[in-house]
Amino acid sequence: MIRTHTFRVETRGHTDVIDLTPDVARVVGGGGTVTVFVPGSTAGITTIEYEPGLLRDIKEAFERLAPEKKVYHHFETAGDDNGSAHVRASLVGPSLTVPFRDGKLLLGTWQQIVLVDFDTRPRTREIIVQVVGE
Ligand code: ZN
Repeated sequence: MIRTHTFRVETRGHTDVIDLTPDVARVVGGGGTVTVFVPGSTAGITTIEYEPGLLRDIKEAFERLAPEKKVYHHFETAGDDNGSAHVRASLVGPSLTVPFRDGKLLLGTWQQIVLVDFDTRPRTREIIVQVVGE
């Protein structure tokens, strides 16, 4: 059985981290795997312990890695000021697969599924959740 769900999330951009775990947990039943995917090249899906300190740590780490205010070649070719967002998103990747059993995601206790929006402006993101299982 394969089921595909979509929902929308409003973000503030600038490495905004949004907890998707409740939305994903809601659509699984029985056992199998669920893939969470964000279309777009300036956002990523990963896991994190969703607590305020780490949300700041993640933002600061990406700022060291690919600073938002640097001039990127992307600006020269595309006239777009979000080179940092593309670089950051390519490192995180756009999807995550999580196994589930007895209707429960097999995540760690301190592990939440998150969308990270790296774009340099607020965005509305479509999230695709595809369930493969019994
Ligand atoms: Zn761009």
